Amino acid sequence: MGAADFYGAAALECCGLSDFFDSTFPATGGTPRLFGPEIHRGAMFVQLVQHTPEPEQVVAAAARLCYSDASVDRLLEQSPEERSRLLEKILALGHLSVLEHAAFTFAVEGISRACSHQLVRHRLASFSQQSQRYVSHRKRFAAVVPPSITARPELERRYAELLDQIHGFYRELVEAGVPAEDARFVLPNAAQTKLVLTMNARELRHFFSLRCCHRAQWEIRELASAMLHCARAAAPQLFAGAGPACLSGPCPEGSLSCGKLEQVRREFARPGSAAKES
Ligand SMILES: Cc1cc2nc3c(=O)[nH]c(=O)nc-3n(C[C@H](O)[C@H](O)[C@H](O)COP(=O)(O)OP(=O)(O)OC[C@H]3O[C@@H](n4cnc5c(N)ncnc54)[C@H](O)[C@@H]3O)c2cc1C
Repeated sequence: MGAADFYGAAALECCGLSDFFDSTFPATGGTPRLFGPEIHRGAMFVQLVQHTPEPEQVVAAAARLCYSDASVDRLLEQSPEERSRLLEKILALGHLSVLEHAAFTFAVEGISRACSHQLVRHRLASFSQQSQRYVSHRKRFAAVVPPSITARPELERRYAELLDQIHGFYRELVEAGVPAEDARFVLPNAAQTKLVLTMNARELRHFFSLRCCHRAQWEIRELASAMLHCARAAAPQLFAGAGPACLSGPCPEGSLSCGKLEQVRREFARPGSAAKES
């Protein structure tokens, strides 16, 4: 069976993930929006499309179960105050394995391949990424332009020119019968990609500690900050205090520290302050 048959012809077109979810997600019965907060920043689009129902309740019940002989039903019936106290305690104690019971699924569009390459290094996450083998670019591929280049119009002009040339040659290759899986070798790191990814709350907190840090590359830092914003909206207590490692201790980067500890702590102090929706 060819890829077109397997994925369906629509999968070979460059549709947006949001279009895909809108039209095919069965649980919503075809209603236009799926779930959760979404963030647009420049080309980047991030949406929390799904998560474990009542993630804080599940995590708190799992934590309680470790120390209780009560039935599971009883454990799920904790009052909000009890739950809140327990979550605070497990986060303070670092009893983080219970956070693995809550999973969060994000749709991400408009990030560069340079960014996605860093993202997929996080081995405890699950990823589905648009394929450059099966999606070929008849139109010029969309690309991310770093702010350091948009700030310099002459460089931005030459950057765009180069991307046009690359696309021209890419098309020549495809039209000459070179398969997309080989023609893509000329595509740049700037080419945009889209993914669906799932992480549990423990892995998300770890991801935020590394990638919300000022030492992380700007694009993955923006992505991580946007994901943190969405995750906090869904589970404020599970992600209270989540963010770069310096929020809860000294900067682990030593002599490579950004030196902005106070500023970073202010930025991440308030729930929802990790990234601004536009
Ligand atoms: C600022 C910055 C700069 C970076 N620069 C580079 C670079 O120059 N070159 C480069 O190659 N990478 C670089 N990276 C990527 C980095 O090395 C990690 O691959 C990436 O951050 C994923 O981190 P992780 O392994 O902790 O996370 P995950 O893969 O998400 O794993 C989470 C945790 O699970 C545990 N774990 C997972 N798999 C294993 C395993 N097989 N064995 C034991 N424990 C495991 C570890 O405790 C790990 O911390 C950089 C990352 C950052 C944040």
